[in-house]
Amino acid sequence: MTVLIAGAGIGGLSLGLSLYQLGIPFRIFEAVETLKPLGVGINLQPQAVRELFTLGLEDGLDGIGLRTEEVAYFSVHGQPIWSEPRGQSAGYTWPQFSLHRGKLQMLLHDTLVARAGPVVTTGAAVTGWVEDGQGVRITLTNRGTGKDLGQEEGAVLIACDGINSILRALLYPDEGPAKWGGTMMWRGTTRGPRFLTGRSVAMTGEKDRKFVCYPIADDSEGSVLNWIADLTMPPDYDWRKQDWNCDGALDDVLPHFADWSFDWLDIPAVMRAADGIWEYPMVDRDPLPQWTHGPVTLLGDAAHAMYPIGSNGASQGILDARILARALKEYGQTRDALQSYESQRREAVNAVVVANRGDGPDKILDIVADRAPNGFSDIEDIMPLAERQALADHYKSVAGMTIAAVNDTAPILK
Ligand SMILES: Cc1cc2nc3c(=O)[nH]c(=O)nc-3n(C[C@H](O)[C@H](O)[C@H](O)COP(=O)(O)OP(=O)(O)OC[C@H]3O[C@@H](n4cnc5c(N)ncnc54)[C@H](O)[C@@H]3O)c2cc1C
Repeated sequence: MTVLIAGAGIGGLSLGLSLYQLGIPFRIFEAVETLKPLGVGINLQPQAVRELFTLGLEDGLDGIGLRTEEVAYFSVHGQPIWSEPRGQSAGYTWPQFSLHRGKLQMLLHDTLVARAGPVVTTGAAVTGWVEDGQGVRITLTNRGTGKDLGQEEGAVLIACDGINSILRALLYPDEGPAKWGGTMMWRGTTRGPRFLTGRSVAMTGEKDRKFVCYPIADDSEGSVLNWIADLTMPPDYDWRKQDWNCDGALDDVLPHFADWSFDWLDIPAVMRAADGIWEYPMVDRDPLPQWTHGPVTLLGDAAHAMYPIGSNGASQGILDARILARALKEYGQTRDALQSYESQRREAVNAVVVANRGDGPDKILDIVADRAPNGFSDIEDIMPLAERQALADHYKSVAGMTIAAVNDTAPILK
């Protein structure tokens, strides 16, 4: 029997690579006709990198991304609030990576196809399923032409079809679209200077006006900077569409950051020099009480779409894939395997979704902005070190990314 996978995103492809590693037959059906390296920057946390290294992707990741060395927080006045080493600089056995989301997707895809052959069928959206004896029969449609592509049979169906998952909507028909919490993100990439350590992720501002910036590539001339400018908008703001590739306008966002020219980074200059700008609403979905329904389960954003705060979306999808593959090895291609996976993952990841709604580790910015709106002479008077440390530690423990939790755990699959 075969594991049927809907979606060749980060989660579906990680699952395919893991199943191939274990010798479990599978097929992936992807809605788009041609996979393209879309999106901009993301971060992969060490617990996910551990799994990708185990899959033999260390050189591949070094080829497309940078080993992150630091995360640093700054006030709306550009004053340093908190910084901490990351990845191997912090003592993790595995690095954190800052990289281009689309390049990661292509790396996973190309590696999978090189190893397993033509296991990914594109132009084939999974539009439904029926239980068939102990297994499942899925229906496939080409979204471009509307053509019915017939049916495929397998033992189980894994919905890795992203934040707007059709399969989740069939399980939860009353849920509706993803939830917007009032923040718009303008995302861009800019050929710019090396700043701070040259491998730093910088978070500046406060909830209503925040600028996140980190390099995703570099050379002797400088860095390719990935940046995200967040703005809280009025509840009736007419955002255009929830599309990762929706063009954004510099004029809509630059005025809000015009005076953020700091000695460590000239933020307006970075925004002005962008190669491209995209606009996207910060959306997530409510935590679910159940992922597994008979022979079908949810994985990645389809299961737990979260705000891109704390850099955990892709990492959690990769961990899902590894744990589900291990369960399928242990229990066979059965419903018990899906239940076992869910019991190991659902509550843990739901807690990350909730933490991100409360601003996750970025809460430090809100606290400082609230206590010292006009700046400070000594951060210690505003937010003592112990309080800053506790906030950073708490999020890491919720997301399963403390140094001890990561280093003391063997890879999920060897
Ligand atoms: C085009 C794109 C650009 C993105 N850009 C960013 C970004 O810049 N920054 C960021 O933080 N996150 C971005 N994301 C989201 C990020 O990739 C995910 O949050 C994370 O990696 C979890 O991965 P996933 O596999 O669950 O979902 P995704 O990576 O979103 O993959 C879902 C896949 O399923 C496919 N699909 C959808 N419906 C069906 C169906 N019915 N049948 C078959 N296939 C289907 C989609 O085409 C897609 O390839 C982007 C996602 C996409 C699809």
